[in-house]
Amino acid sequence: MPRVAKPRIDGGTDDQEDLMKVVVDYDLCEANALCMEAYSQVFKVEEDDTLTILLDEIPEDLPTQVQEAERLCPRQAIRSEG
Ligand code: SF4
Repeated sequence: MPRVAKPRIDGGTDDQEDLMKVVVDYDLCEANALCMEAYSQVFKVEEDDTLTILLDEIPEDLPTQVQEAERLCPRQAIRSEG
């Protein structure tokens, strides 16, 4: 089950429209960790070869390596929204 991002602590708005949402299709994911290499703050492949989403909502004012991870995923299992 993905963890939900904590509210921003920088004084910025918590408006949901400011956040990019990350969704992974676990039926497609083969746990090859390419996404973790691109953005380890968000994606983590565990020792049992399961993928954990550390943050599934990414503030848009942060660098969006999530989109790079989405592009690199050979299974097209990652989708970003927002
Ligand atoms: S790159 Fe795609 S297939 Fe590989 S672990 Fe990440 S989501 Fe899964």
